[in-house]
Amino acid sequence: MAGRLVFIGGGDVLLKLGFPAQEQIVDTKYGKCRFTKAVVDSVEVFSVHRHDPGHHFAAHSVDYRRIIAAAATLRPDCVIGISICGSYCDDLDVGDTLFIDQVIDLTKKRIDTFYDTPGDVRHINVYEPICHAKRCRMKGAAASVRPLKERQITLVCIDGPRLSTRAELNWFRQIGGDVVNMSLAPEAFLARELGLCYVSISMVTDKADLAANDVTVKDMVTAVKRSETSFLELLEHLISSFSDLDFAPCTCSRAPTEAIFSL
Ligand SMILES: [Zn+2]
Repeated sequence: MAGRLVFIGGGDVLLKLGFPAQEQIVDTKYGKCRFTKAVVDSVEVFSVHRHDPGHHFAAHSVDYRRIIAAAATLRPDCVIGISICGSYCDDLDVGDTLFIDQVIDLTKKRIDTFYDTPGDVRHINVYEPICHAKRCRMKGAAASVRPLKERQITLVCIDGPRLSTRAELNWFRQIGGDVVNMSLAPEAFLARELGLCYVSISMVTDKADLAANDVTVKDMVTAVKRSETSFLELLEHLISSFSDLDFAPCTCSRAPTEAIFSL
């Protein structure tokens, strides 16, 4: 095989792409996780529905440890987190595809570490929470088929399930955020804890007018339906070009062992 990818999405990416896929159940200490699996252009691809079919679990109720632990057993070259997000910046519009660079984690109700056992204290380095090497190459491959924002994108992650207030959106912008969603944390951090390369690709589905915002879920669903085909074409391109990408070395795999605190 020329590479192995795991997609975590708000739907099952492989099923949406229409590839003939098999089911693969992975058992972890946190429970079973159902993946679909396909070989696409000699790349082994797995995908999992972050919320379970039917959007059964809201983002704050997802067991991220179960998903990431299961993904780790598949020994992927990269985990790609697919999500939607809301913009509150002038230059980020509905339908834009973003490769997230940074995260401001404002979640409070989620189990966000594997290392919560006394005697196994680790302080994982997440200064760059996304694998820089993988993101750069994948973003470059994506930019060859569509224009992308060149600047850095910072995502604010909130618990939800409610949407943000106008005051919160103003604050997110003041503290350096560009977009907001409910699913990047702790997913990216847990992936780093297990030494996995993680890349986040997010589609803007709503844009707040901070003077008079009235974003609704209906707006988001409409945006997803309008942009989904184009977004999926981009993912298919990334899969088919993955084996040709020349990735620079990264330190993600060393993160767990370099985080052990002992005097
Ligand atoms: Zn990496």
